[in-house]
Amino acid sequence: MVDFTVSEIDQQILDQIRAEGKAGEKYTRYYEDNEEELLKDEFPEAKNFPPLIEKFARRTESDTSGATLGMQITMRRAANAGVPLKQSPGQGLGNAALAAAGTEEQKRKWSGLTLAMSITEPGAGSDTKAIQTTATRDGDDYILNGDKIFVTTGIRCEGVVVWATVDKSLGRAGIKSFMVMKGTPGFEIVRKEKKLGIRTSDTAAFSFRDCRVPRENVLGGDEEKGKGAGSGAYKGVLKTFNMTRPGVAAGGIGQAIGAFEFARDALAAEGVEVDWDMAGHNRTAAQQTLIDMEADIEAASLVTFRAAWLADQGASNNLEASVSKSKGGDVCRTVPQRAMELLGGMSISHDHLLEKYLRDGRISDIYEGTGQIQRLIIARTILGLSSAELS
Ligand SMILES: Cc1cc2nc3c(=O)[nH]c(=O)nc-3n(C[C@H](O)[C@H](O)[C@H](O)COP(=O)(O)OP(=O)(O)OC[C@H]3O[C@@H](n4cnc5c(N)ncnc54)[C@H](O)[C@@H]3O)c2cc1C
Repeated sequence: MVDFTVSEIDQQILDQIRAEGKAGEKYTRYYEDNEEELLKDEFPEAKNFPPLIEKFARRTESDTSGATLGMQITMRRAANAGVPLKQSPGQGLGNAALAAAGTEEQKRKWSGLTLAMSITEPGAGSDTKAIQTTATRDGDDYILNGDKIFVTTGIRCEGVVVWATVDKSLGRAGIKSFMVMKGTPGFEIVRKEKKLGIRTSDTAAFSFRDCRVPRENVLGGDEEKGKGAGSGAYKGVLKTFNMTRPGVAAGGIGQAIGAFEFARDALAAEGVEVDWDMAGHNRTAAQQTLIDMEADIEAASLVTFRAAWLADQGASNNLEASVSKSKGGDVCRTVPQRAMELLGGMSISHDHLLEKYLRDGRISDIYEGTGQIQRLIIARTILGLSSAELS
């Protein structure tokens, strides 16, 4: 039976993450205002919290399913306005690609590193098959040439999974993904992006000029099958999205939860609270808005738990991953907006962190496939149409 109830030990994990977020709030405004600086690897307050691994070790099979807990943790972390007290390796989008498409040997070699994922180019965003970065075979190596933009964790990461085409005439079938380590000659960081939101997360632009990468760095292995050889790698990495899209949805829902909790607590301090026993026609508009916000968050959370749970079972979740990403992308925009409507001027003041949720939440409806693209995938899946038939 599917059960998304959080067990006692898992609630303790989430409570500790919340407390850590509270402790990190004192640093937030500084890193928001000084976007060029990377977060410290560890802040002094981290010492006040026991490693979470101790609580994870006490979990049993009867606790919350792994995928559900993972989504709850992502939501809680995003709902915290405080910066993380400690940076954990191995949590980049490239790590998810490695887990989904890497060979066992590649996983052994690289999973402990922080890995970014670099698909997007100046002329290829939603339409990923339009990428222009080339990979030309030379003996036992490939030589990469091209430009990439918007790489999350691009500065901090130790390596990056790069999409490049071995043959443009093959379209998506020509695309392979390559693990490229920092320091490889020909691989340069061009700049660190300045952004409206998620300013404490580093985003980079890269260039590859005659960058030589061994064949063994082709994610999932480099089979020689002529036409279509790249399609296995492309599909393998596309599978990543079925795991990461619920995760990005959870991040957006977390931003919505943070904004909701801020508004709820600020209104409670002024004596406005939701009384669930009160008949609907007696509620104020503010009380009804809080109820609506919470209901939207709950609906988005449930579809996200389901998408993650299906992935955890090894079941197909193409439709559910896109539904969760689409719903998560909706609430991360609408809930902070409604929180601001409830609170007025204080909501845009630099004295509070509510405005950060509105800025930070916006990205969840853009990266890992925009909301529009998710709705396109949902329509294709339901109608049984290919991307050529509905685009
Ligand atoms: C902060 C940040 C971090 C990022 N991190 C990464 C990363 O780590 N790795 C990576 O590879 N990329 C990353 N991206 C890139 C991100 O995935 C793209 O920005 C996104 O896919 C959209 O592509 P685009 O910006 O080129 O917009 P476009 O594709 O040009 O789209 C512009 C608008 O048109 C809409 N649109 C496009 N096609 C259609 C269609 N067929 N039907 C309806 N509407 C459509 C889109 O929804 C969007 O609203 C990041 C972006 C940002 C801003």
